[in-house]
Amino acid sequence: MRFSMASPVDVVVVGAGLSGLIAARRLQAQGLKVRVLEARSRIGGRMVSTTTASGAVVDLGGQWGGASHHRFAALLDELAIARYASHYTGDGVLHWQGQRRRAPLAEQFSDSLLFFQPNALDLPTEELAATRALQQALAALVAQVNPAHPWLTPNAEALDRLTVAEWAAQHTSLPLAQLPLQWLCRVGGSGGFEPWETSILHLAWTQAVAPQGESPEAWLVRGSAGGVAQRLARDLPAGTVQLGEAVVRIEQQAEGVSVITSDGQSLEGRSAIVAVPPPQRLAIAFDPPLPAAHRALLQRSPMGGMTKILAVYARPFWREQGFNGLGIGNLPALELTADSGPPEGQPAVLASFIAGQRAITLGALPGEQRRQQILANLAAYWGPEAAEPLDLVEQSWNSEPFTGGAFTSFLAPGTWTSHARLAAGPAGGPAPAPHGRVFWAGTEVSPRWPGYFEGAIEAGEQAAAAAALKAS
Ligand SMILES: Cc1cc2nc3c(=O)[nH]c(=O)nc-3n(C[C@H](O)[C@H](O)[C@H](O)COP(=O)(O)OP(=O)(O)OC[C@H]3O[C@@H](n4cnc5c(N)ncnc54)[C@H](O)[C@@H]3O)c2cc1C
Repeated sequence: MRFSMASPVDVVVVGAGLSGLIAARRLQAQGLKVRVLEARSRIGGRMVSTTTASGAVVDLGGQWGGASHHRFAALLDELAIARYASHYTGDGVLHWQGQRRRAPLAEQFSDSLLFFQPNALDLPTEELAATRALQQALAALVAQVNPAHPWLTPNAEALDRLTVAEWAAQHTSLPLAQLPLQWLCRVGGSGGFEPWETSILHLAWTQAVAPQGESPEAWLVRGSAGGVAQRLARDLPAGTVQLGEAVVRIEQQAEGVSVITSDGQSLEGRSAIVAVPPPQRLAIAFDPPLPAAHRALLQRSPMGGMTKILAVYARPFWREQGFNGLGIGNLPALELTADSGPPEGQPAVLASFIAGQRAITLGALPGEQRRQQILANLAAYWGPEAAEPLDLVEQSWNSEPFTGGAFTSFLAPGTWTSHARLAAGPAGGPAPAPHGRVFWAGTEVSPRWPGYFEGAIEAGEQAAAAAALKAS
């Protein structure tokens, strides 16, 4: 169905990911007339699931909720969608420099070596001490970061010009000591970038606003996270979400906005919310144009590199052997595997990731060659049974035109203390100032948990409140 150009709305929302859907839900609940324009032929963006050949429902995008993801938990309660605790019972595996080490998990992330009890890993004392020292140095830096105004952090400019790799090298040359930082950059929930692609200020900021220590992978959604986006869209009045409508231009007049799609249709509204990943804003022409600092910020905010792998098995055989499915290491393809199945063990699913630059380089290999590497890495963590899944699903986010990478965007070195500072709105952080009647949503602009579902919800709620004021 095409929307009618003759039927203006109060607020036009661009993007039917979680953030845009939440904004639309809030506005509609206030009695405002909303239309959501979505470029893809499906809703959900990075919140999407699929059914595999063997019948398992798996999340191709985000899946976990966190211990302090209160908005996401409250949303599921409101929708009467159940959740279950992630399976962390039993030992995990650290695969380091070709050796597989079985170890129990630590109580606290801050006391761990990447979740594991350090002393159970049978690693040289000197290397463990250097690893601990570097983790403590990062924690000290995180404690100093000004979350809303990272550019006001002590020594901000120097920290923003120093890459994570350079900062780590100033402390130690031991490869093990650098592993937790590299892992946080590539595979941590704010990640997808290489340690040489961003500044230590950016990494410290991610840990100040979205701390790995607060267990962001604590629980999973019964059914699938993708089902949440489907449900949110279903709850909106029929015709609210228009699929296959890529927005290419937003014009502003004294009393409203015209939102124009790639097929030349124009939808009038009193205000607009743009809820797309930051680099995708560059694909939209704004009249009047965005301030130069905002554009410069977007040009320095690439998406991370990320391919998600879902391996579905007949049984959770690792659980039967006393393992929890948490595999971490410096294998050539997979740096993380995690049990993503429910307590009853069916479907039996290991989720894993090819992250950072290797998402691009391995992504360029012939499919069968990449598949063999993935299976070999799964077997290295979990034994030969892991190389024989019922289904092996690969989702490359860098090849998705309207996302362009994952989990989220990051800032190039020097950007926080220059263009991000100049572009920032009253709330500071990663949120640029509203552009007249155009407001920004999408997880990346959230003050807390940017890059996560939780941040997508908060950003959607905040943009809805601001856009409603302009629309009334
Ligand atoms: C592999 C992977 C694993 C993840 N794991 C987790 C996790 O476990 N837990 C967690 O909390 N988070 C996780 N995340 C992050 C989480 O999925 C995102 O933070 C969240 O879904 C982002 O929602 P959003 O609405 O901000 O953006 P998106 O989901 O990207 O939605 C933006 C929408 O805008 C549309 N769009 C883009 N350009 C245009 C245009 N010009 N016109 C119209 N529409 C447009 C897109 O098609 C898309 O539908 C993960 C993400 C990925 C990819």
